Formats: sequence, C-alpha cells, structure tokens
Amino acid sequence: MNSVSENLERVREQIARAAAKVGRAASDVELVAITKTHPAEKVREAIEAGQNLFGESRIQEARAKIPELPSNVRWHFVGHLQKNKIRHALPLFELIHSVDSLGLAQDMNRIAEEEAMHPRVLLEVNVAGEGSKFGFQPDKLCEQMEELLSLPRLSILGLMAIPPLAEEAEASRKYFVQLHELRDRLQSEFRVDLSQLSMGMTQDFAIAIEEGATLVRVGTAIFGERKGAFKSTHGGLGTAAP
Ligand SMILES: *Cc1c(COP(=O)(O)O)cnc(C)c1O
Repeated sequence: MNSVSENLERVREQIARAAAKVGRAASDVELVAITKTHPAEKVREAIEAGQNLFGESRIQEARAKIPELPSNVRWHFVGHLQKNKIRHALPLFELIHSVDSLGLAQDMNRIAEEEAMHPRVLLEVNVAGEGSKFGFQPDKLCEQMEELLSLPRLSILGLMAIPPLAEEAEASRKYFVQLHELRDRLQSEFRVDLSQLSMGMTQDFAIAIEEGATLVRVGTAIFGERKGAFKSTHGGLGTAAP
C-alpha cells in the first residue's frame, strides 16, 4: 500500500482535476481527511504531509484521539451525534456536519447557550429517503427551516448528505444534484447563506466536486481500508470487517 503522503498527494490531484473540469478553483474545495478507526500515528503522517483538517464520526474515539495530536489541527464531526454526547462534541469540533433532526438542533442550541458557545453546523439531508439513514427528509427540512434558523446559538452554514452505497460512483451524481438544488431553494426561500455543501467520499468525491461540493470527506483513499480496530457502538463497522 502507498504511504499516507502519497495517497494525500493523489487525492489532492484528483480534487484539482475535478474542480478544473467544471471551472472551479481547487481552493474552493476543502479536504476533510476522515480518520475514524485509524490511530493517531496515521493522523500524524497526514499532518506531516501538510493536511490540517480531519474528521471523526464517533465521539468516544475522538475524545481519545484528538488530545494526542497537535492542538493546531482542525476537526470536524461527521457522524450521528447522540444527544447525550453534545456537550463533549462542542469543544472538540469547529464544524458539525451532521445535525440530522430538529430535536438535536434544539438540544445543541440549549447546551451551547449553557456553555456560552456558538457552534457552526451543517444540516444532514437524507437525500434518497432511506429508512435506515439519519437526516432530514427534504420536505421536512423545508417545513422546519424557519424553526432551525430561529435557534440563536447555531450558525447553519450549509447542507451535508451521504448517498446510498453504490457500485458505480456515477450513481451518486443525482443525489449530489438534489442536495445542491435543495440548498439553492432554501437560500432563496429563507434568504440565508448556505454556502457549504459537504458531499463526496472516497468512491465519489470527484463527482461531488463537479456538482458543487465545498467539503469532501475522504477516509479510505488516504488512510487505507478500515480494519475494524475500533468497534462501532452502533454496529456498522466491527461486523463488516473481514
Ligand atoms: C467514514 C466516513 C467517510 C469516509 O468514507 P471513505 O469511503 O472511507 O472515504 C465520509 N463521511 C462519513 C460521514 C463517514 O462516516
């Protein structure tokens, strides 16, 4: 397997190529290197290769890992956030990609008030209407947007989506288009700025960039396959690992 620095270089080239293809600047796209299940040493290799923005999807793992690493690197949270973990999450992450219900947003607003914080968040949209997935249904989001925008402590910067797993990267394109269109609709209907679109993972980040992603969340292409060293508390990983 290639080194983390070689992998990072290749991913950065692919980002630049995808951006150029549609006339966007590569600097409009931020790479969030997803470190879940990978130990701090791997993250350090990426830092040495110039990466300073990382993402985690489990609070317990993040609470152990982040303090082992230099304090000047930036962290985003991309996983489902349980309400009882909000207080732990707020000081660790500069952006939470995955506010997936009005109830979570309201609890976060209340806790942020108690902690005198102003969290920056994205709203996660269940673009394919999958029963098994977290996120707002698009119609529901339009209904609840007013209420979300009235939460004074939250800065809502944009939308995030995780399309269904597919063999073909091209299969994700229509979901990325949907997320982009939903964003445009919310912006004009509610007169807000939702400039961030978090979409695209190892398999399909180039297509996400063609469709307007400003944040791509890439793990495997940088750090290699996840081996299940950390067992997921909600069943996803440990069971699927070989
Ligand atoms: C794990 C994860 C990623 C990265 O997935 P890869 O396919 O390894 O690039 C991106 N987004 C979220 C929400 C994740 O949980």
